[in-house]
Amino acid sequence: MALDPVCLGQARVLLAQNKAAASARLSARRTEIYEALPAVRAIDEEMRAGLLGAVRDTLSGEESALERCRTRNLSLRAQRNALLAGGGYPPDALDDRPACALCDDTGATADGRLCDCLRQLCIREQRRALSAKLDITGQTFAAFDLQRFSAETDPSHGLSPRSHMGVMREYCVKYVERFDPTAPNLLFRGGAGLGKTFLCACVAGALCARGHWVLYETAAGAFALMEGQKFARDESAGEEVQRLLRCDLLILDDVGAEFSTPFAQSAFHQILSTRLGAGRQTLLVSGLTEEELRGRYTPQITSRLEAFELLPFFGADLRKHRA
Ligand SMILES: [Zn+2]
Repeated sequence: MALDPVCLGQARVLLAQNKAAASARLSARRTEIYEALPAVRAIDEEMRAGLLGAVRDTLSGEESALERCRTRNLSLRAQRNALLAGGGYPPDALDDRPACALCDDTGATADGRLCDCLRQLCIREQRRALSAKLDITGQTFAAFDLQRFSAETDPSHGLSPRSHMGVMREYCVKYVERFDPTAPNLLFRGGAGLGKTFLCACVAGALCARGHWVLYETAAGAFALMEGQKFARDESAGEEVQRLLRCDLLILDDVGAEFSTPFAQSAFHQILSTRLGAGRQTLLVSGLTEEELRGRYTPQITSRLEAFELLPFFGADLRKHRA
């Protein structure tokens, strides 16, 4: 599972902010307790001074100094705990404890690996970024209502849109559960208002919740980013393009609705060949028929599309039906 470098950067900032806020809270608590219980402050100062003296004495050869200091501090700590309890505070009220004991709130474990606390913050940021482009809160497998689809058999398919969508939903649920670098690439194909975006959001949200890095763009939006990188030498567009190529699942919506230009063809080919070559999954959503796709894109692109598993959508436009 890859992590979005932009979200990881935001997660690091959040971690640092949380750490600073905890430190500010501790400092305010210390001021409050020292004002209410000046004897606690006196003990803290005495323990600090005692420790410094013991270190100095040990360095000048007095071997028992640290042990004497430890015994003295035990008795001071007992007095301090009693004072804190009298003021209604727990014994650890002034302890500087990290929120994450594994990494001491640095985001990295002792052996230099990314700590799980930072990973979870990053996954939360990835979800927030995806939510800004696609409704993954309202459009979930649980909210996917088969009753909205007609139960009447579609003569050209030999089954009703309702039973067909039931099968498609199950397929997508399993797809999410088994998602890994060997999972197939998907092509959602069908007219407007047949539930393509809804099902696509279900897959995106569920994968995101499992910690996968999912990005959503329209084909036109993705190709425009690539054009920005190529012609304007826009550095931030370059990072955006790298994200499109590197995420675990890229959803490219409205394939075929973009302006047909030689650049769009080459951008589409680059996305497909890079992602297929790296074993990263792509989910294409298109309103075009197979013939229309073949007529619109170069043979290099259509041959790549043969590697995609087709999920056809059919039936009546749900939006018109509702109106
Ligand atoms: Zn941690």
